[in-house]
Amino acid sequence: MQRDSAPRTAHTVDALVVGGGFFGAWLALDLARRGLSVVLLERERELLQRASLKNQARVHNGYHYPRSILTGLRSRVNSERFLNEFEDCVDQSFSMYYAVARRLSNVTAAQFKQFCARIGAPLAPAPRAIRDLFDPAAVEDVFTAEEWAFDAVKLAARLRSALARERVDVRTGCEALAFEPGTAQAGRIATRARVLSTGEELIFASEHAFNCTYASLNDVLARSGIEKLALKIEHTEIVLVDVPEPLKNVGVTVMCGPFFSVMPFPSNGLHTLSHVRYTPHAAWQDRESDEANQARFERLPRRSNAAFMLKDAERYLPLASKFEVRDSFFELKAVLPQSEADDSRPILFKRDAGLAGLNCVLGGKIDNVYDMSRELDSLLAVRGLTR
Ligand SMILES: Cc1cc2nc3c(=O)[nH]c(=O)nc-3n(C[C@H](O)[C@H](O)[C@H](O)COP(=O)(O)OP(=O)(O)OC[C@H]3O[C@@H](n4cnc5c(N)ncnc54)[C@H](O)[C@@H]3O)c2cc1C
Repeated sequence: MQRDSAPRTAHTVDALVVGGGFFGAWLALDLARRGLSVVLLERERELLQRASLKNQARVHNGYHYPRSILTGLRSRVNSERFLNEFEDCVDQSFSMYYAVARRLSNVTAAQFKQFCARIGAPLAPAPRAIRDLFDPAAVEDVFTAEEWAFDAVKLAARLRSALARERVDVRTGCEALAFEPGTAQAGRIATRARVLSTGEELIFASEHAFNCTYASLNDVLARSGIEKLALKIEHTEIVLVDVPEPLKNVGVTVMCGPFFSVMPFPSNGLHTLSHVRYTPHAAWQDRESDEANQARFERLPRRSNAAFMLKDAERYLPLASKFEVRDSFFELKAVLPQSEADDSRPILFKRDAGLAGLNCVLGGKIDNVYDMSRELDSLLAVRGLTR
């Protein structure tokens, strides 16, 4: 690694968090509220610019996971906590409908109803006017559900001011290069980082370091000489569309297989269009790849799959022919092996990941942050770090 200047110790803190997406920012805040001194490093110029912004923005309320009852149940608990904590950052003004496809679906309408009853998720027949929007030859039934969309721009602003209030030292435009063993005096972990605007190198010594870099998790581990975690990485596209009037205040998901969703995207007033088959453009097993994911992301082509998504969506919802494509988000998605098997969304919280004091965190959806609390309680109790 080439160094522009000799590294110097900038800080000794209780905890260093790398990655200022929703997970890292929320974790940094939680640690500060527990009384720890915290530094948060983010490579981008602002918080929540990557997967936490470029996604479908659904606050999952369980409906999506008929293949994983545990994820369905956890979603019900976590979505309520998320709504309580971030009510002002969530659009609850639109109506959400789940349609069940007649062919290729992993569930029938009856099974979907049964699943929702088991996880206690409210479900009712959709109104006539909504049913009439779907092709009855392709869709078995349509239900009204209770689901919402978060506004990532508002979330970023909320977290920014809360972090400032809790005196978290937030350094944007600062990239973590590697984790190294620390010294007995300064802290158990030394994190080498670079200020991107000047090239200056810094070292942060801390008792705990948290790698919350999502699709770059293994990039930082590999640079630290630590074995990569088993992750599948997908290069994804979410299309931003303007929808015609009957769908303006409406979200639709077709269940449960190679289908699509169209949902309000609160931070810009458009709708996101995603498709199980066409949203992923490429995928690879991270352990088998020699190239860093971020480098690969920068060189991957960005040819839109919007036309395929629209064509397929029209088969179920003919009004999709009137969607106007405005833009696309391309982003990397990190998928845990367990999610591959049953479409569940567990959280990964790996303690002492290759180095004592280094923790790796990855969540399959935004409200999974609440699944961290128990891990943190026991981690900090063991270290006697809570003041
Ligand atoms: C296509 C798609 C659709 C999705 N839809 C939904 C949905 O509808 N609802 C839902 O709840 N979840 C959804 N998700 C999942 C959700 O986006 C993620 O679970 C969540 O955003 C992960 O947050 P994070 O903070 O871990 O990741 P990120 O937001 O990606 O944050 C990681 C941060 O680390 C920074 N970073 C990386 N390397 C370094 C480094 N070396 N030094 C410093 N900083 C670094 C990055 O710049 C980034 O800001 C979706 C994801 C994708 C990709």
